[in-house]
Amino acid sequence: MLRTLLLLAARSPRCRDFVTRSPLTRGVVRRFVAGDTLDATLPVLRQLTADRHVTVDYLGEDITDAEQASRTVDAYTHLLTALGEHGLAPRAEVSVKLSALGLALPRDGAQLALDHARQICAAAEAVGTTVTVDMEDHTTTDATLDIVHQLRVDFPRTGAVLQAYLRRTEADCRDLAVPGARVRLCKGAYDEPATVAYRDRAEVDRSYVRCLRILMDGPGYPMVATHDPRLLRIAAFLARSAGRSADSYEYQMLYGVRTDLQAALADRGERVRVYVPYGEQWYGYFMRRLAERPANTAFFARALFAGGAVR
Ligand SMILES: Cc1cc2nc3c(=O)[nH]c(=O)nc-3n(C[C@H](O)[C@H](O)[C@H](O)COP(=O)(O)OP(=O)(O)OC[C@H]3O[C@@H](n4cnc5c(N)ncnc54)[C@H](O)[C@@H]3O)c2cc1C
Repeated sequence: MLRTLLLLAARSPRCRDFVTRSPLTRGVVRRFVAGDTLDATLPVLRQLTADRHVTVDYLGEDITDAEQASRTVDAYTHLLTALGEHGLAPRAEVSVKLSALGLALPRDGAQLALDHARQICAAAEAVGTTVTVDMEDHTTTDATLDIVHQLRVDFPRTGAVLQAYLRRTEADCRDLAVPGARVRLCKGAYDEPATVAYRDRAEVDRSYVRCLRILMDGPGYPMVATHDPRLLRIAAFLARSAGRSADSYEYQMLYGVRTDLQAALADRGERVRVYVPYGEQWYGYFMRRLAERPANTAFFARALFAGGAVR
């Protein structure tokens, strides 16, 4: 129930205005968002890439005009150039949301998002790194996979994301378990109806294992995006059973979440990639992080209440 309310609030402009205006939310946001600007984020990237890899997300989603989408492309181009200039590109790729590139715009949104994503892939290739296309709510799954498919013609290392909570995902895993395909498997972060998604946590976990088995047994490059210790143990078992070497798959976790597990895996010689978001448009991303864990919400509510009391 709380999760559903928070995910509804994540899309409400009124809630966004209220939450983003409170100065006391900043401290909580900082746990999950590396910085407002690229300059503030570069030291974080430098520190993390000492023993991990990163995928950097310039925050923003659900843009409403084409000009905003072009500004997002500029921001990614600037980011990728900086990753090259600072020698970070061997350990840093970028993650991109198609709704930030214009996917939802009424006129030719899909074509616009594809053109923009191509520009970002070309900028990534120029500095020797890759792009992963984040997955958003289920109404965009077909369009997103279609765009990834088209990007992979010219940029075969473009990563896709699949969400284990969707009932369709086992079939998508089979389609994407092809040589060279980089596939991030996550549980899924949006509020989806039972018609398309498993709503029960145990069912989502079982789906995750079925999907991961397909990816690990296939010829692609699985990216295991979870902080769930039980699923991490199962992933290690499936990788061993499939005879995979440590460089033929990777673990992925979010900036600020289970840093203890990230360090432990990296110490064991596993490849760990941290998803590092930065930028001022943190609201939607932040609300999804709150929705994932009730304890985060209590902490945040205290900060917000204190903020409201002083205004
Ligand atoms: C690298 C990466 C990329 C992702 N990309 C996408 C994407 O493109 N599309 C999408 O829909 N979802 C994406 N997600 C989010 C994902 O779908 C889940 O919502 C999120 O990872 C929580 O699920 P979990 O597998 O960690 O398991 P859970 O069962 O939710 O959590 C397991 C444990 O992890 C810790 N934990 C998890 N989340 C939090 C949190 N927010 N704060 C504090 N502790 C936490 C807790 O200790 C918890 O007990 C991504 C996740 C990762 C790690």
